[in-house]
Amino acid sequence: MAVEFDVVVVGGGPAGATTAGLLAQRGHRVLVLERELFPRYHIGESLITGMLSVFDELGVTERLERVGFPRKNGLSIVWGKNRDLWNVNFAEIDGPYDYSFHVRRAEFDEILLDHARELGVTVVEEATVKEPLLENGRVTGVRYEAGGETTEARAPLVVDASGQSRVLSRKLTTIEWAEDLRNLAYWTYFEDTADLPDGQLGNILVERVSHGWFWAIPVETETRRLSVGYVTPTASLVSGGPSIDELYEAGVAESKQLKRLLLGAKRVAEFRSTRDWSYRSAAVTGPGWLSTGDASGFIDPLFSGGVCLAVLGADAAAKAVDTVLRRPDLADRALAAYAAGVHNMVSSFLDYVRFFYDPTRDREDYFEQARSMADFNERYPNAREAFVAVISGRLAMSELFRIPGAEEEPALTGTVEP
Ligand SMILES: Cc1cc2nc3c(=O)[nH]c(=O)nc-3n(C[C@H](O)[C@H](O)[C@H](O)COP(=O)(O)OP(=O)(O)OC[C@H]3O[C@@H](n4cnc5c(N)ncnc54)[C@H](O)[C@@H]3O)c2cc1C
Repeated sequence: MAVEFDVVVVGGGPAGATTAGLLAQRGHRVLVLERELFPRYHIGESLITGMLSVFDELGVTERLERVGFPRKNGLSIVWGKNRDLWNVNFAEIDGPYDYSFHVRRAEFDEILLDHARELGVTVVEEATVKEPLLENGRVTGVRYEAGGETTEARAPLVVDASGQSRVLSRKLTTIEWAEDLRNLAYWTYFEDTADLPDGQLGNILVERVSHGWFWAIPVETETRRLSVGYVTPTASLVSGGPSIDELYEAGVAESKQLKRLLLGAKRVAEFRSTRDWSYRSAAVTGPGWLSTGDASGFIDPLFSGGVCLAVLGADAAAKAVDTVLRRPDLADRALAAYAAGVHNMVSSFLDYVRFFYDPTRDREDYFEQARSMADFNERYPNAREAFVAVISGRLAMSELFRIPGAEEEPALTGTVEP
């Protein structure tokens, strides 16, 4: 069987659903192929504010508000030379978004994908993409399996939004690992946990211990459910040394803030784990394709930036794809601008995360480093505010993803005539 669309998107997570929804809004015929049947479990539960403007553009914000996900106000952190607790809130810098959400990803991702469907996207779940279709080195579609049938979906552009599976990217480009960030995460859920004190309520807690760090994310208010994850270098697990369970237990015992939250709490889920997630694809575009979200790269979860980078990247991907489809004469420029934007975004996050992992620094160093990052220096001369801007995900996206020549073209916005 064969079908034809303007764009085929592989993966219906935040990157895929956002790219697809924005392209449908611009009048394109979009097919999303998603391997799972939603709702499905996913890690990545604490969201920052940087991508909320994209949700406004999609028209999905009110729906997300209605679910009643716990509000995230900022970050409470124990880190660096000094083990004191310090707090920063999104509201400390000017802007329309004072808070974000801690989400149960199964529900959150389902809302985004349903919303894309309502915007006119054709979504096929339980559809596993097997390989790209290639003609003279150009991607012209994908081959996928659903319900025991194999189908060829063809389109002038294919978007790889398949997350860490990198379904197309793994065949079309190579991967660059951040060797110094080869970490492992081990997490579970607790209920009947205690709250952070006033002033920190609604924050994610990030607490450093000897061999790693913990996240504590309040994902459900009624049951006082906390997602508690431990991140440690893969190298901490040596044969004959402590097991990951022992490291987790020892870390909780050593912690000051986390231990208080877990006093009298009960564990309500099995442990899950994942490793080696800091990488980027050497190429994020090529003839007939581009990648976005985790498929194009992901850097350590330390600042809870993954969904934000995926959604901002998807926004830029949608603009690039729209330009390619409407103005083939600008296609090369659009794709080059997109590739440079993704590269800059991932690089600046990577540089900052590396700086932060250096245990010899203290809070003022982290603030100052944030202030010295190219664009922030001018926009946020105050170092603490620059730090809040970094951890909010304000990455000057419009400049990162400017498509030279496209902005003076009014024809590039609005709906395509049928
Ligand atoms: C330990 C850890 C903790 C994290 N914590 C946070 C956090 O607190 N906050 C945050 O913002 N981010 C966090 N992240 C990152 C976040 O999970 C990701 O960045 C985010 O999910 C990326 O979205 P995506 O749409 O690119 O990929 P995904 O959400 O992974 O979506 C990809 C989709 O593609 C589908 N797919 C895969 N293969 C195929 C195929 N062959 N055919 C069809 N479909 C396919 C999958 O089923 C999936 O639904 C964390 C990551 C890790 C590893």
